[in-house]
Amino acid sequence: MITKKEISDFLADRDPALLEKLAARAGRITAAQFGKVISLYAPIYLSNYCENNCVYCGFRSSCGLKRKKLTPKQIESEMKIVAGSGIRNILLLTGESRKMSPVSYLMDAVKIAGKYFSSISLEVYPLDTDEYLELYKAGVDGVTVYQETYDRNRYDELHLSGKKKDYDYRYKTPERVALSGIRMISMGILTGLSKLGDDLYDLFDHLNFMERNYPGVEYSVSFPRLIIEPGDETDYHKITDMDLVKCIILTRLNFPRVGINLSTREDASLRDHALHFGITRISAASNTSVGGYVEGVQEDPQFRVKDLRSLKEIEKVLRAKGFDPVYTDWRRIDNTPI
Ligand code: SF4
Repeated sequence: MITKKEISDFLADRDPALLEKLAARAGRITAAQFGKVISLYAPIYLSNYCENNCVYCGFRSSCGLKRKKLTPKQIESEMKIVAGSGIRNILLLTGESRKMSPVSYLMDAVKIAGKYFSSISLEVYPLDTDEYLELYKAGVDGVTVYQETYDRNRYDELHLSGKKKDYDYRYKTPERVALSGIRMISMGILTGLSKLGDDLYDLFDHLNFMERNYPGVEYSVSFPRLIIEPGDETDYHKITDMDLVKCIILTRLNFPRVGINLSTREDASLRDHALHFGITRISAASNTSVGGYVEGVQEDPQFRVKDLRSLKEIEKVLRAKGFDPVYTDWRRIDNTPI
């Protein structure tokens, strides 16, 4: 595996020729492994109740946010709008509150989603294996869970209270997901929390461990950039566009078959540029507020969407760049005897 020093040397390197050469190589590997296709997905926020206190997040339990949780009827209304746009891969999100979004609530949401979407992923609080198994049986085929930062001391400083404070339980979540039979796991770091090179190395190490021990799973990674909340005076690390581009290139060169996701948290020009050297999956026409698709506004979102283009506009850009936009690449087959 690449060393920590090699990662930090590349992040610090200013040689445009080297960058160009490695970007081109990453692009060739991506095309060879995935073809010229980009999968499209959208998020639906079900609830913003959260029992954790992550200093960097606007959903944290100590902030005076107006809390909301969708009813099954409201969930269905959101889904109808998203499915009506053509999206078939959905990511269902909640804040991390087991009390307000129990597994039974998630199950109900997944069952409704099954009417509209062929692929259903969850980004919720970490669960136990038997709970993932229940959700898998209900139709979940993907789970997203980020460690945020792999630096234990920094993790402890930034996660003040709540279940998330338990670093090890979170770290072992991808294993519990894999044991349940769920086929896709998305891992990642919230870039900006800690030293980028160290976090990237530890993410690679974690991913390597998962690939070796659970080879049947389809893995992907994300590098969301920290957006500093007003009033948050914590000392963070600045992450430039170039840093992000280098994270994508390094991932592709070291993990040829791992998917790389890029959300609407990044602006249109960076997203379009990154398509050429490693990205395989992007969100589109996203609303990051609870109930935001029906209300048509972004009120108290988890983060502000920077790429505001419609699905049709994004599809047009993809085609112009020679990529096929993919809405469905997975369909669950029910083998239950009639
Ligand atoms: S990052 Fe997640 S767990 Fe932490 S406060 Fe925000 S929603 Fe809750």
